[in-house]
Amino acid sequence: MSLDNSPAAAAQAPVSERIYAALRQEIMRCEIAPGTTLDAAAIARRYDVSKTPVRDAMQKLAADGLIAILPRSGYRVAPITFQAVHEILDLRAAIGPHAARQAARYATPADIAELRAIVREYAAPLDVGAMQQVARRFHVAIARCSRNKRVIALSENLFDELERLLRFAIDFSVKAGEHSDEHTALVDAIEAGDGERAAAIETAHIRHAREFLIERLMTLGYLSESEIRLGSPKRSMLA
Ligand SMILES: [Zn+2]
Repeated sequence: MSLDNSPAAAAQAPVSERIYAALRQEIMRCEIAPGTTLDAAAIARRYDVSKTPVRDAMQKLAADGLIAILPRSGYRVAPITFQAVHEILDLRAAIGPHAARQAARYATPADIAELRAIVREYAAPLDVGAMQQVARRFHVAIARCSRNKRVIALSENLFDELERLLRFAIDFSVKAGEHSDEHTALVDAIEAGDGERAAAIETAHIRHAREFLIERLMTLGYLSESEIRLGSPKRSMLA
């Protein structure tokens, strides 16, 4: 890329940023389905821009792991694979109970009040996106109670990655009540300073979420057999 001072060049960076942000949101919300193929020309037409800022935006999305770059300016939105679901939930199962145990040790009355305020938000009718944000804030707030910055950062990352998976999986009309009960029990244990009980509740909570998520993804056909094979070491047996 040349160091061009023309107005057109100056405008280019914001355009690619705008396309990046718009596509990222659509991919995260699954408004563009996992596995969809896209091409630079079509995106450029849609946003009424040249292909250059589109390619820049797609490079950033590829760096985020949200798309794969195909030959001839083609792109594929990252599929939801069994491997990715497993890895995210496995890490959450390791970190969540630890955060809950530490929260029982360090949470202040102000922290408990904040957690209870978040749980109360489940009583309101929420759409899918709002419900996800409540769940994220609740679990990140518990991580914050652990007073461990790395645990907080990891929890935030995991919820970013879960966002795309959860779009498909949660039947909120069914789950909201149960979800809220588990959260209340968890806050009760943290308030009582009972780290082992808090960790046990969080372990069960994450196991329920995992079973539900995988079942839903399979029922809806998003975890296809071909995607499982793609991430499986068995592929090497064919070589
Ligand atoms: Zn939860």
